[in-house]
Amino acid sequence: MTLALSKGRIFEETLPLLAAAGIEPVENPESSRKLIIATNRPDVRLVIVRASDTPTYVQYGAADLGIAGKDVLIEHGGAGLYQPVDLAIAKCRMSVAVPEHFDYAAAVQRGARIRVASKYINIARDHFAAKGMHIDLIKLYGSMELAPLVGLADAIVDLVSTGGTLRANKLREVEEIMQISSRLIVNQAALKVKRDLLQPVIEAFAGAVKS
Ligand code: ATP
Ligand code: MG
Repeated sequence: MTLALSKGRIFEETLPLLAAAGIEPVENPESSRKLIIATNRPDVRLVIVRASDTPTYVQYGAADLGIAGKDVLIEHGGAGLYQPVDLAIAKCRMSVAVPEHFDYAAAVQRGARIRVASKYINIARDHFAAKGMHIDLIKLYGSMELAPLVGLADAIVDLVSTGGTLRANKLREVEEIMQISSRLIVNQAALKVKRDLLQPVIEAFAGAVKS
């Protein structure tokens, strides 16, 4: 059984869930450069992937299971993936933010065409379409907070947890789009073929989720 995880918060917050399923990684991916990490169970290994690549590995069956944020799952689309458990880890929210002095309400009111920068192009497009707003979208891969400060965009769509990064860059959250947490994802074909192996792990994860 192969489980795809990203380094950082998802790996850290998944460790207790793995422990509940009797799985202990033999190495820490933060200090090891290995991308395939063995566990105490000879039939279970972890593969370390970029957070936004997790659904791709599971969709193609290169990993049987994975853990990915709702942001990544919505942006990617859920084809071929079964999403049995909301793990309630890596919690944050997806929001619209603008410079402190930008009058967002007035821009919405007069139907202004605004420029929005985001890594989450699909989520941003759907959000503004639902509001009936016309926007120009600019795809970025990171450091979204910079875009409004240098005139690249009027607004950003990004993840927010404490709001500290927004405040440090004189930005203000003006709309929450959705609450985000990470989910267990499972390759649908693998679940049929390897049910005896996968089902107990899915159940152990579900049982270990803190509500
Ligand atoms: P990469 O660093 O590869 O570009 P990333 O920045 O999305 O990807 P992480 O920062 O590890 O990777 O985030 C992984 C997931 O954790 C995100 O998809 C999101 O669901 C969640 N997340 C991101 N930022 C926060 C945060 N500040 N607080 C809580 N959860 C977060
Ligand atoms: Mg990050």
